Amino acid sequence: MTARKISIHEDRFDTKGVTIAFTAPTPHDPTLVWACADHPDPDLFHPTDDASLAAALAICAACPVRELCLALGQARDEYGVWGGVLLESGKPQAGVPRRGRPPKVGTAA
Ligand code: SF4
Repeated sequence: MTARKISIHEDRFDTKGVTIAFTAPTPHDPTLVWACADHPDPDLFHPTDDASLAAALAICAACPVRELCLALGQARDEYGVWGGVLLESGKPQAGVPRRGRPPKVGTAA
């Protein structure tokens, strides 16, 4: 199911009955070329390992709207790769977070 735009005055979308409104709407400029716009795997920009993060960053590296994208991601407190930076709640992350308990180090007796 795709999101249905419900306002022409701002970015407001209805997704499965939940309305999302961005305070920093995506610019509606036909001259902007978002390198990932038609990418067949949008999940790539929500990486779960270092390999998928590297693949997403490689696409961002050649993107002409990289600075704008990062500014939007930070303004919206977004998650995932925005402007070549991995964000969590709009904050840059050093890498993909590891799940589970960290490995024990230096506990050998
Ligand atoms: S910089 Fe933003 S718009 Fe460009 S490819 Fe990366 S995530 Fe997509």
